Amino acid sequence: MSVTVVGSVAYDALETPWGKRDRILGGAASHFSIAASFFTDVRLVGVVGEDFREEELDILRARKINLDDLQQVEGAKSFFWAGRYDYDLDVAHTLDTQLNVFAEFDPQLSEAARESRALFLANIQPDLQRRVRQQCGGARFAGLDSMNYWIDTAKDSLLETIGLVDAVLLNDAELRMLTGKPSLAQAARAIRELGPSTVVAKLGKYGAGLFTEEGFFALPSYPLETAIDPTGAGDSFAGGFLGYLATHEPPYSDDVIRCGLVYGSVLASFNVEAFGSERLQALTEKEIDERFREFKQMTHFEPLPARSLAARS
Ligand code: AMP
Repeated sequence: MSVTVVGSVAYDALETPWGKRDRILGGAASHFSIAASFFTDVRLVGVVGEDFREEELDILRARKINLDDLQQVEGAKSFFWAGRYDYDLDVAHTLDTQLNVFAEFDPQLSEAARESRALFLANIQPDLQRRVRQQCGGARFAGLDSMNYWIDTAKDSLLETIGLVDAVLLNDAELRMLTGKPSLAQAARAIRELGPSTVVAKLGKYGAGLFTEEGFFALPSYPLETAIDPTGAGDSFAGGFLGYLATHEPPYSDDVIRCGLVYGSVLASFNVEAFGSERLQALTEKEIDERFREFKQMTHFEPLPARSLAARS
């Protein structure tokens, strides 16, 4: 089952304590597509300007991402984002956001993109996300991501769009900001009351939490020795999660969703090892399998009762 994604395709300028990049391939949909392409066919819906180079398109083509629904607008500039991270890499400080071509983008999806059974509304203007959701009538599972920028500037539209999807993936600060609820559990409940059956709370270097009908599941993050740049980690997480889910038939059992969470964490952890999508460009399926197994080992324990308790009774 293929997955269609709409979201930003961008040039990013990035700065972390470990270096900088002035102009590299960025955008939520780019990161998502590269990660999801390890699991399934991906169709990318988006727009770039005349300044977008073949070099960046080739990165996407190398992962066999279908670009039929990626428009290029003459005489216009691509989405541009500049961000900086401090030593702990926890918070992205936005230095500049230029929507450029995305300000006017009105996507008309191809028949093939409309027929995808899985859909991801990556981070972009919520009206735009909604228009794509409405065109993808065939999607049996739709996920959504967003960020503080849209919660600040288009909250009502975002809430309306959330009502049309099955899964919401946000970080803990965004979940609390969007719902006004002080605890993660309350925020997840409030989101699930809007319609989505699944809420994934991304907790950065503390891992991820999953809220579904069945209850709560938690996963730590991978204990990385070297973290260089977290840009796109959330999108890579979503790509691993939805890409894996797309290899199963919905409705998904909790076991499938939990494995999706692990694959999301695997892809996100690799993403952080280098700038932008540089690490994922060099990633292999074997490395993904190995880290998936490490997650299983990391989170498994034998429930052996305390000997002293038995002795006391
Ligand atoms: P993440 O680190 O996963 O939250 O996403 C980082 C990516 O989101 C970067 O590559 C940016 O190009 C893109 N981005 C940043 N701000 C926005 C925005 N307001 N709307 C859409 N995409 C954005």
